[in-house]
Amino acid sequence: MAISDHVDFDRFLNGLKKRNPGQPEYIQAVHEVAQDIFDFIGDKEEYHAAQILRRIAEPDRVISFRVCWEDDNHNIRVQRGWRVQNNNAIGPYKGGLRFHPTVTESVLKFLAFEQTFKNSLTGLPMGGGKGGSNFNPKGKSDGEIMRFCQSFMTELYRHVGPDVDVPAGDIGVGAREIGYMFGQYKRISGRWEGVLTGKGREYGGSELRPEATGYGAVYFLENMLKHAGNSVDGKTALISGSGNVATHAAEKVVELGGKVLTLSDSSGFIHDPDGIDQNKIDWIKDLKVNRRGRISEYCEEFNGATFHEGQRPWHVAADLALPCATQNEIDAAQGQALVDNGVIAISEGANMPSSLDAIKAFQDNKVLYGPGKASNAGGVAVSGLEMSQNAERRSWDATLLGRTLQDIMSDIHTKCGEYGSDQNGHINYVKGANIAGFKKVADAMLAYGVL
Ligand code: NDP
Repeated sequence: MAISDHVDFDRFLNGLKKRNPGQPEYIQAVHEVAQDIFDFIGDKEEYHAAQILRRIAEPDRVISFRVCWEDDNHNIRVQRGWRVQNNNAIGPYKGGLRFHPTVTESVLKFLAFEQTFKNSLTGLPMGGGKGGSNFNPKGKSDGEIMRFCQSFMTELYRHVGPDVDVPAGDIGVGAREIGYMFGQYKRISGRWEGVLTGKGREYGGSELRPEATGYGAVYFLENMLKHAGNSVDGKTALISGSGNVATHAAEKVVELGGKVLTLSDSSGFIHDPDGIDQNKIDWIKDLKVNRRGRISEYCEEFNGATFHEGQRPWHVAADLALPCATQNEIDAAQGQALVDNGVIAISEGANMPSSLDAIKAFQDNKVLYGPGKASNAGGVAVSGLEMSQNAERRSWDATLLGRTLQDIMSDIHTKCGEYGSDQNGHINYVKGANIAGFKKVADAMLAYGVL
């Protein structure tokens, strides 16, 4: 950046901070993208004149509402719900719902902002949104979950629709929650329509949707490695999380000949030097989805594994890392530990799991680094395909969807290369994804004039 650009960038960032007090995650996400965009639009007057960056960094709207429900002991409980509709320049708002006590407006604004660029990268016509609640599903009975989901949808239904805004799952929102919310939407609107994705197969859900984010993150990893003349085969991998994304990422790493050493949950991580194979992954899926247990129980079942309470797996030596739990789960020291231990590639299954300092360490050391907006876009891509299937009242078979997912991940890799390659052929995937994602949305906004 030239000196005058630095001054403009600082002014932009200061304005952003002033307009969004107490929202560090949102500022972190915009900061990361804006750095690359500033360079890209430096000599492109049309974007400056139309104030595109300023407009893209202001959500179309943030809807916040009360969610009132009754627990099993007849206590009345009150939570807050949100839907952030960030940008619908290239299609209906699209993005998941997160139920977790750490959910705040800032977290959802960062996720909706990232989602806008990610959805653009998939090549499908989807805008960006995100929503959720500070509700904690842990330890709640099925009845409590159902009553909460129904109450949440009783307000949300008036803001969504198949051509308006199509939410999906995210942390704490899986098939069970989507079922309860879809049922409530159908009941109060009187319409069966594709208003949510991630639905059960019996009622309009797509084959491969549950697997898509984790598998896609590994396809992206394989693309990065292939570009560098390498592959997943024979490599060791650290994975965090043990939910939907993590378990499916583990499954694909194993299928491609890699060895998964770790998984985690919010209480700590397990390290299994023998490798977490498909049988063990199936056991974990059952533990998490059906028995709603804790990852520490793995060590009672499988010999040789150790549980590390309250810790994350990033100090274990391995070739590959796939953070698949939550935002900011790799801080500067953990990022440096990965580099020092010789990690060669990182593919983010989670959204913004790496802090800005950790990303700098990866880039300074030429570690292949796939940011979530590119590497975890497989989930929303298959969600987009679920919308198409619902619109045409048909179901596509898993083989076709599998091939399409691989093609989409490979296209995203190519787009990153188009805007992020240096003279030596090294790809800065952050820059490539930011610019490619931005350009399509920005050009659509230019076409609409001042809105
Ligand atoms: P799940 O709820 O299925 O699993 C989340 C996992 O992460 C759990 O193991 C959970 O542990 C752990 N986790 C959650 N919060 C924290 C925390 N604060 N600290 C440590 N561990 C935590 O969610 P998903 O697998 O669906 O989502 C994981 C990530 O992937 C999120 O960042 C999400 O935004 C992203 N993502 C998901 C997509 C999808 O299709 N599902 C699509 C694109 C991105 P515990 O059970 O103890 O809370």
